[in-house]
Amino acid sequence: MLEEEGINERIRYCNACALSDSRRVYGDVNRSRILFIGEAPGQDERRIGLPFVGDAGQVLDSWIRECGFTRKQVAIINAVKCMKEKNRKPAIDEIDACNIFLWDQIYMLKPSKIVVLGASAMYSVLRTQMPVMENVGRIFKVVRDDLEFELLIMPHPAYCLRNLTYKPPIDIMKRFLK
Ligand code: SF4
Repeated sequence: MLEEEGINERIRYCNACALSDSRRVYGDVNRSRILFIGEAPGQDERRIGLPFVGDAGQVLDSWIRECGFTRKQVAIINAVKCMKEKNRKPAIDEIDACNIFLWDQIYMLKPSKIVVLGASAMYSVLRTQMPVMENVGRIFKVVRDDLEFELLIMPHPAYCLRNLTYKPPIDIMKRFLK
């Protein structure tokens, strides 16, 4: 059985990609049927050691609240556990290198609903590089081994901070998480 401590230990000593000498952010791994997946830790996340704690985190927190949950009632992880540059997008080979840990966390949590936030998170689970913003609001059913979950594509909250006139489909997310 996969245990959080064992997964974190393997992440701690991983040097599978060029990001290995930066701080690891394991996730906010509350036991929940709902899992949010983001991209990679930004500056604030690396400082505090938790995902989504900066400005984008506040946006995500407000979405979670609008859907009737608290942050402690959901799990939040990133596709990539390390990042050394300011807030750059991880490269495909970095997402691929870290994918084993992402799936370990998914197998451990066994969520019934996953919300992927942005292109890197979408690629990390669905292995597609289709344009994320054209697919926001789409729901997929994913079956892998003994796992089965529904997956909703949402934009990364940082995109919404950069594009203040854009309105993310929170109503779809609300219905999806019911
Ligand atoms: Fe390992 Fe992932 Fe960190 Fe790369 S980003 S060193 S694969 S834990």
